[in-house]
Amino acid sequence: MDIGGLETVVANSAYVAARGSVDGNAAATMRDKKMRAKLKLPHITQCGHLKDTVDQTFDSMCVKQPIGKRLFRQYLEGEEAFKSAADLWKKIEDYATSEEKDRPQKAQKMVNKFFDSASKTFCSFLEEKAVSRVREDHKHSRGDLFKETEQQLLKHLEEKALEAYRGSLFFLRFLQFKWLEGQSVTEEWFMDFRVLGKGGFGEVHACQMKATGKMYANKKLNKKRLKKRNGYEGAIVEKRILVKVHSRFIVTLAYAFQTKLDLCLVMTIMNGGDLRFHVYNVDEKNPGFGEDRACFYTAQIICGLEHLHQHRIIYRDLKPENVLLDDAGHVRISDLGLATELPEGQDKTKGYAGTPGFMAPELLKNEAYDYSVDYFTLGVTLYEMIAAKGPFRSRGEKVENKEVTRRILNDPVSYPETFSSDCKLLCEALMEKDPAKRLGFKNNQCVELKDHPYFKTLNWGRLEAGLMDPPFVPDPKMVYAKDISDVGAFSTIKGVVLDDKDKEFYKDFSSGNIPIPWQEEMVETGVFGELNAWGAKGSTPNDLRY
Ligand code: ADP
Ligand code: MG
Ligand code: MG
Repeated sequence: MDIGGLETVVANSAYVAARGSVDGNAAATMRDKKMRAKLKLPHITQCGHLKDTVDQTFDSMCVKQPIGKRLFRQYLEGEEAFKSAADLWKKIEDYATSEEKDRPQKAQKMVNKFFDSASKTFCSFLEEKAVSRVREDHKHSRGDLFKETEQQLLKHLEEKALEAYRGSLFFLRFLQFKWLEGQSVTEEWFMDFRVLGKGGFGEVHACQMKATGKMYANKKLNKKRLKKRNGYEGAIVEKRILVKVHSRFIVTLAYAFQTKLDLCLVMTIMNGGDLRFHVYNVDEKNPGFGEDRACFYTAQIICGLEHLHQHRIIYRDLKPENVLLDDAGHVRISDLGLATELPEGQDKTKGYAGTPGFMAPELLKNEAYDYSVDYFTLGVTLYEMIAAKGPFRSRGEKVENKEVTRRILNDPVSYPETFSSDCKLLCEALMEKDPAKRLGFKNNQCVELKDHPYFKTLNWGRLEAGLMDPPFVPDPKMVYAKDISDVGAFSTIKGVVLDDKDKEFYKDFSSGNIPIPWQEEMVETGVFGELNAWGAKGSTPNDLRY
């Protein structure tokens, strides 16, 4: 074996070992004890300023933020008046994520406990109409059976419990966590593993947050390269959009910080590699996916696109290479560096952006366009997953961009035998050259697209809840990335000087912990539980005593 090969083997085994240790309890053993010890709640007297600056809207503080929600619930569980409501809230969540076959029984129990006025734990704050609707409907296993109930429950808690919560020790504990969350982040907190891929401005490495043991991907953007190639705008757009979106179908950003040389985006690690790698490199003699697999990925991509479009974001760079697999085989959209946000009140934009062979005709013609360009790229992506070639070039053919553009504008697509008629129809509806006739995002949703016959056997509710078993599960011992020596090095950048204005930009970019993912990490690695200690029954812990 040559040295390059050996380097990959060594790097792979370190990476696979770190990755494997993170399921469940083993994570704690992989932690760096010194760094873990630095995660400490401050004394409450250090948190005074947060009382006025922390977002205390109910939905953000008590529902969306994972630590906020847990502390709010601990408060509710200790108050006689809110015990039933807290219990019902938990059971509603459990119901929504449980399997269909278990739902009728769960619903029956909930009805008996909370919806029957003879029950001790009857939830009298629910409106009669909502109660009777649930009582009538609960034999069906509809995922949204308790949707109306949940809305009324949350409204009740906001009106009746929020203010008292703000006066409780649990709220002070929340402030302590917000203080910890607000501390600055440096590279010292992360341990780098092997390179996973190469981007335009730097490498993406596997990394581990030392204090919790959680694995992430660290996308590095070289400061000098960014400046030389006018990459600031794209970098800040990518960061801003990632902070804004929260979807299981889009990679999540957990940290943004800087080192001397790089800006770093620390994101969900997608150990299964990208779809391009799976289409072409996993089984080179037999490239491409069967329809079941392509259908599953296409459906998950649609959920990601729908979320982006609901947030007024046009993605513009959908292609197999930018869709990544996680350990379980679910996919997420990544690489939002070319995305753009439509300002409120503006429904189209202009500008050349994307990858040759994927871009929609209206964009290539320099016309104004909207979200519909992303459904054209979706059609190209689906086609490529099955045909193992792009729709506008033959396999292995080298064509100039100009010719690819000409074909996209003028030529019909031809379909190999392997396409089912439904799949072909869907590809045609997506690669429709006229954006007005193209299938896609209408009335703020993708209903029409989801109803296409190609998806007739797909349960969208279960897919959206992450409950469907993926058709392919990556091998946990495998590394779905090129050998290190094949990733390719960057040339050094000369003649770029960084000044105060650049530093201002880097500071703006490096906002540190992103609240929701940071809180999730603390909860799921057990650190939240360890830090959230309470004194003996009824006594106030020292760190909360003024
Ligand atoms: P660029 O914007 O410069 O194209 P990308 O975000 O596409 O950079 O990242 C480059 C490559 O790094 C990807 O093609 C992929 O192979 C790998 N990569 C990126 N993000 C992740 C991630 N979250 N998990 C695993 N690998 C990743
Ligand atoms: Mg990319
Ligand atoms: Mg990019």
